[in-house]
Amino acid sequence: MATCNSVASAATEDNCPICFDTLATKRILILHPCMHRFHHTCIMFWFESRPTFEKSEFTCCLCRTVLKRPCDEKGELVMLTYPMEEKGDKIDVDRIRNTISLVKLWTVISGSLDKLKDDKKNAQIGNKVDEFIADIDEETVKLQERQKSTEIVFVRKTLSVSSKVRKLFAERRLRQRIIASAFEVVRTRGQKRALEQKRVDAEEAFEKEMEGVAVTARKEFRQLCAAALAAAAARNATAAGQARQRSRAVAKRSAQTNNEQQPKRSR
Ligand SMILES: [Zn+2]
Ligand SMILES: [Zn+2]
Repeated sequence: MATCNSVASAATEDNCPICFDTLATKRILILHPCMHRFHHTCIMFWFESRPTFEKSEFTCCLCRTVLKRPCDEKGELVMLTYPMEEKGDKIDVDRIRNTISLVKLWTVISGSLDKLKDDKKNAQIGNKVDEFIADIDEETVKLQERQKSTEIVFVRKTLSVSSKVRKLFAERRLRQRIIASAFEVVRTRGQKRALEQKRVDAEEAFEKEMEGVAVTARKEFRQLCAAALAAAAARNATAAGQARQRSRAVAKRSAQTNNEQQPKRSR
């Protein structure tokens, strides 16, 4: 902690240690336990540039303290979402380990997007600078892309292990061989044209079947995500209900105490 404090005093308290701009221009993230403060976007960029995205490897880039949790200004835990948006036409799938559940990732992103919506509303009410709101908008777009990628990766993974897809590819190879050898024996232009048409039709049918498998996988992913979201909402409702019960019990207790005390006071 001593090192943390000395580094903190070296940096200006109200500036982001990464971009040196004033902290007030964007959302703030506070790292625990070192309590160093950064722009949310700046420190996220640091986290996501780590070679592996493992929780145990999250460190403060200022003091290298291993982090327990990153919080926003209100002390609410900020969820880290796996950086997996498409780069060009390719998703950086190699960085995603199988242990990461894509459905869980989707729901985490969904929660973060809800929070961003609230952040934007509060920023508008609080008359924050344009830069502050633009930063929220950028983050929203980034997370939306990331959320879309979870589905793409799920479909890709499903297709890669699907026995139906394997069968479709095997049938296609066989068909191509048969058509190729038929081409060697046909003589007339009409016969060749008919064969060519057969090849095109078969290829179209193959693409359609493949798309069907992908559609089913997408549907499955959406159902899993909807179920996970509903389960999370139910958990939250239970927690909120318990909190309400607790506060009612506290209110009742304090009312009782007041009633017991009042007669004494009135005397
Ligand atoms: Zn910054
Ligand atoms: Zn630190």
